[in-house]
Amino acid sequence: MFEALRSERSLRTLGRPGAIPGPWELAWQAEHLEGASPWEILEWAVETYGNRLALSASFGGPEGMALIDMISKITDEVTILTIDTGFVFKATHEFREEVMRRYRLPLEVLRPKLSIEEQVERYGERMRTCSPDLCCQVRKVEPLERALKDYDAWMTGIRREQTPQRANTKVVTWEERYGAAKIAPLAFMTEEWVHEYVAEHGVPVNPLLERGYRSIGCEPQTRPVAPDEDTRAGRWSGIEKTECGLHWVDGKIVRGNA
Ligand code: SF4
Repeated sequence: MFEALRSERSLRTLGRPGAIPGPWELAWQAEHLEGASPWEILEWAVETYGNRLALSASFGGPEGMALIDMISKITDEVTILTIDTGFVFKATHEFREEVMRRYRLPLEVLRPKLSIEEQVERYGERMRTCSPDLCCQVRKVEPLERALKDYDAWMTGIRREQTPQRANTKVVTWEERYGAAKIAPLAFMTEEWVHEYVAEHGVPVNPLLERGYRSIGCEPQTRPVAPDEDTRAGRWSGIEKTECGLHWVDGKIVRGNA
């Protein structure tokens, strides 16, 4: 429905941003952008943050892929941040390489400070299953925190209808922990909209999605889901954990059911 806003035009060159909006201004901006199209939100983000803007994508779900496609039509200078925990599916690795041959955007692969072997030595073999919050902290959250020191804002593909924890996702908000603004251009878009976008624009999606996976993260803690199951039911299946801790709710880290 929003695609009519886009037309063929040259890509933007990004400079350093001017004055960066503070938390209060972002709260106002979140209200102002409520109901805006993803394109309008992306344009605002590029205009506001210039080359200090990044896009976080896991190359797992179609949301991140839709955003990569959209931002690539605005500029080829926004860096994609992706976290390689060491437990990423081989299929996701291969897909990422294929995608980055198509989209000429800078890619920064974020890695944990500890190798898997070092983690096992320090915390034990079963940390993933016994202390998954700590594992996610070491392998996902800390690498993103470190990377965001170089940016003023990051974009993510999360949507409100994905989980109860994401239901109040703002289009843009200030995240003190990261010292950066978080922008969710798809916050109020539906799953159908995302699927229509990738189909209409020929956007590649992770091949695991055709094998019953609907939310794809680390291989040891991701399983395919049945058609009547929740989209994220295959993540950390069997334990009270639904979020890795990258996304906060009301200023607090949330990893399980609220
Ligand atoms: S999803 Fe599992 S393996 Fe991946 S970082 Fe979190 S706990 Fe570790």
